[in-house]
Amino acid sequence: MDFEFDVFRLGELTHGQPLYYLSMHLLQYYGLIEHFNIDVDVAKAFFREVEANYRNLSYHNSYHAADVLQTVNLLLLSDPQMAQNFTKLEILAACIASAVHDVDHPGVNNNYLIQSSHPLAILYNDLSVLEYHHASKAFEIMQKPGTNIFAKFPNDQKREIRKQMINMVVATDMSQHFTYINKLKSKISAAALKLQEAPDRALVLDMAIKCADLNNPAKSLEACKLWAFRIMEEFFQQGDRERLNGLNVSMFMDRKETNIPKCQIGFIDILVTPLFESWSQCIATDFTRLCMKNIALNRSHWESILDKPDAIPTFHPPDAHILEQELFATTGSPATLKKKLISMQKTGGSGDTSPDTFRQRGKGNSLNTKGKSPVGPISKNFQKPSLRSEPSRPIPEDGSRNTLFAKPDNKQSAVTPRMGRRTSGVVEMINPIKASALGRNLPELPKSDSSSDGAP
Ligand code: AMP
Ligand code: ZN
Repeated sequence: MDFEFDVFRLGELTHGQPLYYLSMHLLQYYGLIEHFNIDVDVAKAFFREVEANYRNLSYHNSYHAADVLQTVNLLLLSDPQMAQNFTKLEILAACIASAVHDVDHPGVNNNYLIQSSHPLAILYNDLSVLEYHHASKAFEIMQKPGTNIFAKFPNDQKREIRKQMINMVVATDMSQHFTYINKLKSKISAAALKLQEAPDRALVLDMAIKCADLNNPAKSLEACKLWAFRIMEEFFQQGDRERLNGLNVSMFMDRKETNIPKCQIGFIDILVTPLFESWSQCIATDFTRLCMKNIALNRSHWESILDKPDAIPTFHPPDAHILEQELFATTGSPATLKKKLISMQKTGGSGDTSPDTFRQRGKGNSLNTKGKSPVGPISKNFQKPSLRSEPSRPIPEDGSRNTLFAKPDNKQSAVTPRMGRRTSGVVEMINPIKASALGRNLPELPKSDSSSDGAP
């Protein structure tokens, strides 16, 4: 079975919206839209908005979120026996939490926000600052008109899914990494992991998103290198900011000093291997075994180039003005941030009247002027697949022609956004298990020329 998922290919096929497409696809695939009677247009609006709120960063972009979403899907749900342990509400929470888990990431980590006394760190008392921000952003998005995906849920379900989503997003905070691993390990060694019990299922969901979040060394070598270079690019930019602001430059973030293979080996040995080892003690599927194999192979690769600087691309510092930009559009004190939230409640809108400076919305995106990557190419030979350098283009939609999931008599608009003719490969990479079944009735890809119907 081929588990390789090329999120960049999905990005090409969906005009730079892999997260939106994949989210809608999985919600439909698991019968969640129907089960919870979710309004399809509201779900579409929500995921579009989530994707638009990821920035055009090298690593923490919507492609990473789509990758985490797909990996949670493979880790948890590709094994039918495993999948049947979870309630529909848990599966929905897992999908949405994965999709939103890094939304509005500014490209610097919690340590930077805390060290620089950023208003967000003050607002959240230095605790899981970014993770609380991502979760909060997701619920903020739901306050915009027409995007509340939980609008029709009874109150107890609303409370439950909100709790589960927040738990999963907060679980991605690396500061509690070993707490989660140790919890799972002690459950396993005491033979006390009981998936019939909700708290144990919650722990498995937390571990699934953690594995997915750190899954880049568990991929094929090419994908592993690509994501590793992307995160290093972001790390180096944080190091530049730290230097500029008189802070200590964090480990592995100094572009002049860092040995990338060494950093990757440390990452694998200290953080990734113990995580995947504990996961594979819990769930030994073909996919988990493949992850373990890839981790070992990729580690050997990094070791083989430890002293070969030529094997590493060149990273160029960004323009100075990029480092001087505020990290968040809403600046000011924590009180200002709170005021913004309160005004949103009153107006039912975003409450954000400041220019949409940072997001992946093309024009006005100051991190992405003139369609250029904010950080530039990292080497002559390293081709970073471009994400969205243009204003986001709505995926062409044509309910009548989307036969993939819509029932013949379905009066709602089609659920999965239409992609077009050559989709069988995409559906295979999304759902290796059911690819053959899904391969029938595929929607068509838009033609590549500008006459593509539906494309603006
Ligand atoms: P998140 O910010 O939610 O994506 O959390 C994952 C964290 O794992 C990142 O912030 C990085 O610190 C770390 N990470 C992921 N991939 C790598 C990698 N290839 N090398 C070093 N650190 C990584
Ligand atoms: Zn992440």
